[in-house]
Amino acid sequence: MISSEAIVVGAGPAGAACAFELRQRSIQTLVLDRFSFPRHKVCAGWITPRVLDLLDLTPGRYPHAMTRFDRLLFHLWGATLAVKTCQYAIRRYEFDPWMIARAKVPVHTHRVETITREKGGYTIDDTYCCRYLIGAGGTHCPVRRTFFSSSHPRSGQALVAAVEAEYPCDCPDRRCHIWFFHDSLPGYAWYLPKAGGYLNIGIGGKLARLRKQGRTIMDHWRRFIETLCLQGLIRSMPPAPRGHTYYLRQPSSGGRIDNAVVIGDAAGLSTLDMGEGIFAAITSGIAAAGAISNHTPLSFYRMPRFSLPAMIFQPWHWK
Ligand SMILES: Cc1cc2nc3c(=O)[nH]c(=O)nc-3n(C[C@H](O)[C@H](O)[C@H](O)COP(=O)(O)OP(=O)(O)OC[C@H]3O[C@@H](n4cnc5c(N)ncnc54)[C@H](O)[C@@H]3O)c2cc1C
Repeated sequence: MISSEAIVVGAGPAGAACAFELRQRSIQTLVLDRFSFPRHKVCAGWITPRVLDLLDLTPGRYPHAMTRFDRLLFHLWGATLAVKTCQYAIRRYEFDPWMIARAKVPVHTHRVETITREKGGYTIDDTYCCRYLIGAGGTHCPVRRTFFSSSHPRSGQALVAAVEAEYPCDCPDRRCHIWFFHDSLPGYAWYLPKAGGYLNIGIGGKLARLRKQGRTIMDHWRRFIETLCLQGLIRSMPPAPRGHTYYLRQPSSGGRIDNAVVIGDAAGLSTLDMGEGIFAAITSGIAAAGAISNHTPLSFYRMPRFSLPAMIFQPWHWK
């Protein structure tokens, strides 16, 4: 049996931020992830200045390419609005390994299946045991499934289906475009050129409303690609997209039960307007480490529910 004071299930931004903070607080920590890194994560990789602040990071200190956008082009019902802002983009393929390496804790490649609570601690797959258990395994986190699903039920209304493709591309337009309700999509679509010669394009929408429309996210994807071609934003067909589902912020999100916590997508913390989840993942990871070390409850009620206000009204970042 491999024992550690704390075990974090999932090495995405939530798990990596929590592991970093736990180590800072001298709590022995081990991270388990079903994949070895680097691994692909379905995500646009847009991050706000708030994320850089949380990580005490500047673009110059980040070892990979980081894109900065000083303007966003919002498209809504045929109108285009250029909004002055300061936003960044990274590639999750690079960002996640950097985050977990920064934590400086052991990481084992292990897919967690069964967790039991015994003798005041937790046993994972008869192989690992710990006193504190952190569920950072994303939408299908086994910690959430085992300990939180009945006390913190998730609403199907908050479930988002999203697809994206990130690929090397000589982008005809270096600006970031965002389309709201494109072709009645119950969500938004994006065109995000990245430093280093990559393009990330994708769409996301509420699954319940897609079902009501009788359309799938792939129906919307095909219409979106047609629009990108027509507008000359892409010159050839992109590779097949990858898909993922996740939950937007809900009233019952998050929390702690005994010495188990859930954070990030496992707690369903993405913002209600833009589905921004990286900031929430990192914030909740840091908060969870504090709750564990201070023996306090874990609450997410102060975390922002919306992204747009901070994206549009942030003059202190207009440098
Ligand atoms: C298409 C799309 C685009 C998005 N774009 C953005 C964006 O631009 N900006 C933004 O802020 N947010 C975005 N999001 C949301 C963002 O990706 C998530 O909110 C964020 O990744 C959550 O981080 P996390 O650490 O909680 O979970 P994840 O990043 O999902 O990490 C969970 C980790 O747990 C591991 N794991 C899962 N199950 C197990 C298991 N059984 N055993 C062991 N390990 C396991 C996984 O391998 C994974 O590494 C997007 C989401 C989608 C789907």
